Amino acid sequence: MRRQFVRAALGVALAAGVLAATPSLIPSSAGVPAGDVAGATGTAGPSTAPVPIATLPAVTSVAAIRAEPGHGRQPPPAAPDPSTLTGYVWPLPNGRITNPFGPDWYSDNTVNRVRFHDGLDIATFCGDRIVAAHDGTVLAAGRKVDPWMGWIGSLAPSVARRDKYNLWGELPIVIVVDDDNGYRSIYAHFSKIAVTVGETIRAGQFIGWEGRTGYATGCHLHYGLFSPYATDRFGLRADVVKRTLLPAWEIARINPLLVLPSRPAPGTGGAGTSGAPAASASAGPPASPSGP
Ligand SMILES: [Zn+2]
Repeated sequence: MRRQFVRAALGVALAAGVLAATPSLIPSSAGVPAGDVAGATGTAGPSTAPVPIATLPAVTSVAAIRAEPGHGRQPPPAAPDPSTLTGYVWPLPNGRITNPFGPDWYSDNTVNRVRFHDGLDIATFCGDRIVAAHDGTVLAAGRKVDPWMGWIGSLAPSVARRDKYNLWGELPIVIVVDDDNGYRSIYAHFSKIAVTVGETIRAGQFIGWEGRTGYATGCHLHYGLFSPYATDRFGLRADVVKRTLLPAWEIARINPLLVLPSRPAPGTGGAGTSGAPAASASAGPPASPSGP
């Protein structure tokens, strides 16, 4: 099975994530080659425990997030527990998981220096119709979406670099949605999008076509989920920070499987392979990834 992943500058942020609040849900069997972790310490074995924001330089705040352009709502001041989130549907109802959320050698984000994929890669075929996973309001759409992506730190250096070298075209086409529940959904790698900033959307509504913009080995959807009010962080690999001039940290992501309806893992030969989403969200056990 072909594995798809992203490593582009902005895709970097999409590519690595960490299940901050619930480390027990991080797949422990996912192999992270020993010694491959950039800047690894001498400790035995990688740790996937979240990095508490309190231990890191404070460079963001709820007030700053509320001041972001397009952020007109007032979500709860603390990140809601993912188990309380409802109303999610699969954004590619018939897609198979090609790269799960968790430790992943090909990703640019890190959790305690372990490379980590910060979202869920789902694939069908190029040009398939992607739908909204939840009701919400479109905060950003296109390639200039970094201010809504939960970066912790200044974006000015990376923006200046992209402007100077005309690098915007290499980024994935992304939609960021305020799910109106204290979380934001990130959809990435569209070939073309069908919504506009400020638009109110409903779960299951068509929002764009599956593509491979940005750094991707094939058409797929990267689906990410985070709360601007979360207090944990994911890192960005030092070499990527140096190359892209992006901030070294992003707000921690959660595993989308915590909120997507339970369903049989596509491609496992199970009885229910229709992929039809259930009516309500469930925090059931993560489906088995179909990829390597
Ligand atoms: Zn991804």
